[in-house]
Formats: sequence, C-alpha cells, structure tokens
Amino acid sequence: MLPRFKYLRPKSFEEALELLDKYGEQAKLLAGGTDLIVKMKDDVVKPKYVIDLSRLEELKFISKEDGVIKIGALTTLREIETSPIIRENVHVLSDAVEKMASWQIRNLGTIGGNLCNASPAADTAPPLLVLEAELKLTSSEGERTVPIDQFFTGPGETILKNNELLTEIQIPIMSNHAGTAFLKLGRRFAHTLSIVSVATLVVVEDDVFKDVRIALGSVAPTPVRAKKTEDRFRGLSATKDVVEKNCVWVVEDVSPISDVRASAEYRKEMSIVLTKRALIEALDEVR
Ligand SMILES: Cc1cc2nc3c(=O)[nH]c(=O)nc-3n(C[C@H](O)[C@H](O)[C@H](O)COP(=O)(O)OP(=O)(O)OC[C@H]3O[C@@H](n4cnc5c(N)ncnc54)[C@H](O)[C@@H]3O)c2cc1C
Repeated sequence: MLPRFKYLRPKSFEEALELLDKYGEQAKLLAGGTDLIVKMKDDVVKPKYVIDLSRLEELKFISKEDGVIKIGALTTLREIETSPIIRENVHVLSDAVEKMASWQIRNLGTIGGNLCNASPAADTAPPLLVLEAELKLTSSEGERTVPIDQFFTGPGETILKNNELLTEIQIPIMSNHAGTAFLKLGRRFAHTLSIVSVATLVVVEDDVFKDVRIALGSVAPTPVRAKKTEDRFRGLSATKDVVEKNCVWVVEDVSPISDVRASAEYRKEMSIVLTKRALIEALDEVR
C-alpha cells in the first residue's frame, strides 16, 4: 500500500519551480513513477508531497541543433528507442534503452527519471558517459549545466538540490569515425536490471586508437568511466589482440559489491568479458 501524501500537479514549468521552492525538502518529483511508486510502496521513501511533472509538455522533446542532440528530461524511454535522430546519430543510447525493462515500463519511464533515480544499474548512464553528455539543471534561481560524470554522488544520490530539477540532456554528436557499443548482462538476456553493463566508444586514426571511452554500470556505487583502462589504449594499435590483452585492467576501475543478483567476483570477471566484447564491437563498427 502507498503511504499518505499530498498530490500536486503543476500546470506549467514555472508552477513546478514554485512548488519545488515551497515544498522541495519534503517533496518527490514524479515523472513516469516506475521507480518512485515502487520505492513508496516498499516504504523506502515517504514524501509528504508528490509533484507530478508528467503533464509538462515543454520537457518532452528530442532535437538536433548545431551538432548537439537535446533530449527533454520527460522524454519516455520508448520515444528514445524509436527516435530516428537518436538511432542515426547516437545509436549506443537507443541500443541501451531497447534492452531496458518491458515495453509497458518503457512507455511510462523517462530518461530523466532513470538518471535522477541514480541507481548504479541505470542503463542510460553508461552510453551518456561515453558520449560525454551534459545535463541541464534548473531551479527558480537559474540554470546550470554539468558534465554527466559529475552528476552521480552515490547509490540513489546526485548533485541535484532540493529546489532543482533535471530539464535537458545534451549530447555532442561525434564524428562518423567513432564506433560505439552497449552490452548488458542481466539475470535474463535483457529487459531486466543489469548485473554488469558496458558502453564503449572508439576513435581510430591511422590504425591506432586515438580515443577509447569505456563506462560501466552495476559495478561501483555510481555508473563509472574506466579512465585508467581508457588511458592504456590511447596510441596503441587498433587490433583485437590489443583489446584482448588490455581489458583485464578494467578491474582496477571498478569496485563491485555482492548482492542478490551476483557476487563481486563474478561482476569483476564479467566486467572484463563485456568490456572486451563491447570494444571489439565498436572497433568492428569503425571498420
Ligand atoms: C519492472 C521494472 C523493470 C525495470 N527495468 C529497468 C532496466 O532494465 N534498466 C533500468 O535502468 N531501469 C529499469 N527500471 C527502473 C525504471 O523503470 C527506470 O529507471 C525509469 O527510467 C525511471 O523513470 P521514471 O520516469 O519512471 O522515474 P520516476 O519513478 O518518476 O522517478 C525516479 C526518481 O527520479 C526523480 N525524478 C524524475 N524526474 C526528475 C527530473 N526531471 N528532475 C529531478 N528529479 C526527477 C523522482 O523524484 C524519483 O526520485 C525498471 C523498473 C521496473 C518497475
């Protein structure tokens, strides 16, 4: 059963900001509700006020302007999955989204909710980390834009202030020479929370790795970039042998825990295996 709360539904974005100013400390924002309502039913969160954003049409959009893709925070996972703009320019994001939950959940769940829920297993986070997306956060005091790698601070925690909301995700479009991949291991192949997830992005010039980006989910308190492993690749020959040899180092970038879904040891092993496969897939795409 749901605990008692006061339901507020702002008619405009400005009204939402006013309500956040007034009730922010005791309120929770509701987008699709696929995380929040579950937590409320399980008594994990007990907000006094629930501010329903779901009618704010101005936060539902996908656009491409001046080399940047902009996604409104209330855009549903299903809209991202089926967007030609996303598929043609940053398919690593739609590849991740199509492996999330069931289509019923993807019809309701939003990209903003997935990020702000800040689960280490949030599937949109690894692709957005390798794409070096930026997040626009808005309050009545103004706007700020932060790189996504500064957004998550711990399981369920972000840098969002009580009176602030995520409004937009901005993704710089990479050159055509970048290859990307997303792989996820769940208790089933897909449509379930990940045990390990990996997104990769590679840029190759003159048969050498010019840029390698690796991000993992479910293997640390927050989704993480594997910076130490990435550094090892830059300047090396872009071959499958080099990938095979260097992926073992990814265990230095992760700090998994054991839980009901998998042991820490298994997650470490699978981080190596999935990183290897995702890098080879991204390399194949470049070629
Ligand atoms: C059966 C099931 C399967 C699932 N499978 C997956 C899966 O495979 N992968 C995965 O990553 N997730 C999965 N999820 C989790 C969930 O569906 C996603 O995280 C979804 O994207 C959450 O979006 P939402 O709009 O429903 O968020 P909500 O539940 O509405 O909100 C989540 C949190 O974010 C806050 N919030 C929402 N929007 C904003 C905003 N714009 N600004 C500030 N704060 C905001 C809310 O206050 C709340 O704390 C699953 C959930 C269920 C129930």
